[in-house]
Amino acid sequence: MKRTGIIAAQGDISEHIEAVNRAFGEMGVKGEGVQVRSRNELKRIDGVILPGGESTSISKLLASFGLHDTLINRAEEGMPIMGTCAGSILLARKGGSEVQRTGTRLLGLMNMEVDRNAFGRQRESFQTRLDVVGLEEPYEAVFIRAPAIIDVWGDCKPLAKIDDYIVMARQGSRFALTFHPELTPDFRLHRLFLSEL
Ligand code: GLN
Repeated sequence: MKRTGIIAAQGDISEHIEAVNRAFGEMGVKGEGVQVRSRNELKRIDGVILPGGESTSISKLLASFGLHDTLINRAEEGMPIMGTCAGSILLARKGGSEVQRTGTRLLGLMNMEVDRNAFGRQRESFQTRLDVVGLEEPYEAVFIRAPAIIDVWGDCKPLAKIDDYIVMARQGSRFALTFHPELTPDFRLHRLFLSEL
């Protein structure tokens, strides 16, 4: 039985649990999505998802749950991790001035720099068909006050772009998506992540 934890601080927690359960079902793998709020719960899972929401609030909640350092340790031990929207911001090594101004503590697990509200400044939310490296058909992606990845280096590679902005990147078994894959009934990106468990 594979257990995928969803960090239950804020954001689309139940949607991610549903998407994980559906994706495991499609893969024919016995597995489930579970909420994670404590260090003990974090020790008992095989992979973890950091949902979207508001990155400053999530970073504060991670610290108050005592999860910040444990998440870094578990990822460094090789546990797969996926961050969506605000979650992708927290995975980055570098944030822009807004991340600094708000004192948001990043996990620094991926070699990338993010711009926290890159799309939010242009359009609050939008939906678009994305070409994703490794997927045969485009993916209908929902963006909500979305960040963008403005630079990647080393072993962090872009998987999808809108113009010059990277909107999905991968570094080994770590995935950053600046959109919300839990909001569309297409579980291919959850499956891509879960296949790393
Ligand atoms: N731009 C938001 C932030 O800075 C993220 C938005 C989202 O997760 N929908 O946290």
